[in-house]
Amino acid sequence: MDGRHSAGSQGSPRDSHFAPNDWVWSPDASCGYRRSRVVSVDDGRDSLYVDDTRGGAAHEVRKSELRPFYDVGETRTFQDNTEMVHLDDANILDNLRKRYAKDEIYTYTANVLLAVNPYKPLPHLYTKEAMDKYWGKNPGTLPPHPYAISDVAYRQMQRDKRNQALVISGESGAGKTETAKFTMKYLTTKSRTDVAQGSRIQEKIVMANPILESFGNATTVMNLNSSRFGKYNEMMFNPVGSLVGAGIKTFLLESSRVVGQQKGEKNYHVFYELLSGMDEDALSELCLERDRSYKLIHSNGPQPAEESADARRLAKQFQELKEALSLFLDEEPQNNIWQVLGALIHLGEVDFVELEAEEEKDAFLQPPEPSPSHCASPSASSAAASDLTSISRSLPTTQSAHVEIHPDTEDSLEMACGLLGLGAKAVRKILKFKEMRVNRQGRISEIRCPRTLAQARQTLHCIIKILYKRLFDKIVASINHVSNAGAKYQENNYHNIGTLDIYGFERLESNSFEQLCINLANERLQQFFVEEVLEAEQRMYAEERLNVQMMELPDSAPVVSGIHSVLKLLDEHSLRAVKNLVREGGAKDSKFCEQVYRELIDTKGQRAIMALKLKASRTDRGPSLHDGFQIAHYAGAVSYSTKGWIDKNNDSLVPEIEQVLNDAEIPLIQEMADLSRAASGERLCSVSSMYLSNLTDLLATLKKCSVHYIRCFNPNQERKAGVFNAKYVLDQVIQCGTVELVNIMHHGYPHRCILKDLRGRFQKLLPPEFAHYSDRDFMHAVMLAWEIDDHQWTLGTSRLFLKAGQLRALEELRDIG
Ligand code: ATP
Ligand code: MG
Repeated sequence: MDGRHSAGSQGSPRDSHFAPNDWVWSPDASCGYRRSRVVSVDDGRDSLYVDDTRGGAAHEVRKSELRPFYDVGETRTFQDNTEMVHLDDANILDNLRKRYAKDEIYTYTANVLLAVNPYKPLPHLYTKEAMDKYWGKNPGTLPPHPYAISDVAYRQMQRDKRNQALVISGESGAGKTETAKFTMKYLTTKSRTDVAQGSRIQEKIVMANPILESFGNATTVMNLNSSRFGKYNEMMFNPVGSLVGAGIKTFLLESSRVVGQQKGEKNYHVFYELLSGMDEDALSELCLERDRSYKLIHSNGPQPAEESADARRLAKQFQELKEALSLFLDEEPQNNIWQVLGALIHLGEVDFVELEAEEEKDAFLQPPEPSPSHCASPSASSAAASDLTSISRSLPTTQSAHVEIHPDTEDSLEMACGLLGLGAKAVRKILKFKEMRVNRQGRISEIRCPRTLAQARQTLHCIIKILYKRLFDKIVASINHVSNAGAKYQENNYHNIGTLDIYGFERLESNSFEQLCINLANERLQQFFVEEVLEAEQRMYAEERLNVQMMELPDSAPVVSGIHSVLKLLDEHSLRAVKNLVREGGAKDSKFCEQVYRELIDTKGQRAIMALKLKASRTDRGPSLHDGFQIAHYAGAVSYSTKGWIDKNNDSLVPEIEQVLNDAEIPLIQEMADLSRAASGERLCSVSSMYLSNLTDLLATLKKCSVHYIRCFNPNQERKAGVFNAKYVLDQVIQCGTVELVNIMHHGYPHRCILKDLRGRFQKLLPPEFAHYSDRDFMHAVMLAWEIDDHQWTLGTSRLFLKAGQLRALEELRDIG
């Protein structure tokens, strides 16, 4: 395996001895582990022979790759993995598999909840009665459930007066968003309502979800409803635990999807919902036709007619979306949203034609026409004219044509501009020409340079992406504005519970800038998990002076700092590209990649940099045309292609558009303008810096919270109910650090209770003579008096530590007492 861990090192049973006829789990390429029998053992060797019990020939396996088989029958399962005698990846996997077969999709690993996507409705798990059952109960006493985790968070928030966070992770399709919704539904349904807020705040929190899903989710090959953004939902509670408000933070919407999708994938749901659900009159106001095929949304995937089976569902979703939006927006801004979406669909139709040049390239460099929005002073114009010769020398000679809007698509441009309230002339100019500033002898002047066909198309795509992204941000801002009204966050005695539903680790066939950002988030969250959960656990054992074996833990720091260095270089190159008048096309990406090779890969001896591996295609003659590199993430190695990164990293690729948006007639569009970027001709609005700062804020927020983890697993890639692809799940189990957690918990004690609290609750179990005992001595006496197996508990200086399952025993004891 190319990751930092190999399956063989996970939970390897250091103390296991195997003898002939022992049942074991032996590694298997198709199902992870296969039940096998030891045939012969040679003590002098580190491997032995097993057969697979199906009459196949015996084969040799390294002892370290075998796991002891834990035979408890096919039906007996453990609701907490740490209850098993043999705690390793093979036995965890088997426990998950058997539980999944019984529709028991949730399993604890100590405090972490594991969830395997059932791919079918299991309504009995989420009834009102189920919610009532979990309310205020100790999590160890009921079957594992997201409600239990939510309940613990709510109790802890009130008890400790501290913010809480539920971190939900897993790969695409694993069930993060569904699980997040269960936790939010539980908390909004069960917590008290602030009288001033009424029940509306509950409704608003729940109804924000369909809006975010319409605008931020899309059909992908992995998931028919894949979230293409990360989100952190915070629910605010007042000091008595009543829900008073909510807020959403979003991360990195995948805006490239708006202009193009991979095979088998679609654009954001809202486009299809609008076309299916909007009534005829409203559609014709947007100049849209229900059954027409539009490039932006139908270029890839079923055409409108084929979608008729889905049309009713989509139409229904559109009505629901409108109802949900009505909670946050009046009719007019809602209509503005439909106008923007309609305009984007029309813009998607626009195309260009390349016209041959009549003269030499100098002809394409013209000083801009004086216009109200881009007014060049006469002196500036003449200065620009005198600069043309020097600029033209630096232009590639291949540039011998300029573009016009394709006559067949002029109407689309007009319709789009009409809907957005923009001047078509101004937009046409932006699409055809790039305005650049030239500094000559201290005088800044503007020149206009024609775009090539590819550049004009790219500019159009850029405008579509910017508009969609800003529309999404505006909608989130409106939701926040309404949901926060009345909530007094700033007050210290108000606390919140946040739910993080963020894209899981991605390793696609082709990985780009977006994947690096996504994987960086996962890398940092994993680092957080290791530091805050695993290391903290070991630290606590040391502090409480328990005699527990310590483990070496994985360290994400070298990879995280490696990625930060890559992004720093990317910013340097992006800035250079912004300042550079010469249009380099793909060469600028290669230059960036070359420097990654020079500075981050060729340096020897540093772990962080060694984590970046050379791509196999690199020739022995040294780097020539680089198009990517590799990073060894905690969850496996990923190859990244750097094509297009310089443009992807720049959020103000079309600074000229800002002024045009600002001049729009429609308020929503006007609000979408960012004039600070209009002047940013030579400034970089770095996407990666913005993302890094969001990520740092998120981690700082999490650091101030008590964090609860839910790990979601995808049982198969076919989205089928009842299919448990064990090898596929095993990879995910290893990737998310569950095995390390299990190991620590196995050697240690997953449940711990503060002695002082326990004393209060168990006081009546012992006669009054014990009243003068210290808390520690008192609980010691309780454990001895009630003859609890002394392998199952130990006393720290301030806490009683219990093995899995013992908390339940202790609670029963109290009931008997
Ligand atoms: P992505 O990262 O792509 O957003 P995700 O982890 O958020 O993926 P979900 O959208 O939550 O995945 O789940 C994918 C699909 O799996 C859901 O649309 C639903 O059909 C099904 N699913 C997930 N969890 C459950 C559940 N607990 N019960 C029933 N179906 C579920
Ligand atoms: Mg999701």
